[in-house]
Amino acid sequence: MNVFRCTGCGAELFERRASCPSCFGESFEEVDAGEPEAIVSSRLTVTPEGFADSYDLFIGKLGKARAIYRKE
Ligand SMILES: [Zn+2]
Repeated sequence: MNVFRCTGCGAELFERRASCPSCFGESFEEVDAGEPEAIVSSRLTVTPEGFADSYDLFIGKLGKARAIYRKE
């Protein structure tokens, strides 16, 4: 998975933003952060229409960033 690294201070963000929350810089580079490391997870058994009947939601470390992702 890729993250956006601020070229000013090196902060990493899962989603691209207009400016860096740490230094307010506006320049980012997209870098490969590998696979996320799960911190916490939760199994959903009531899901929105069009999604699987159940799946796991995770909050994980992705480089210096945090990401929310799912696995069925
Ligand atoms: Zn920054």
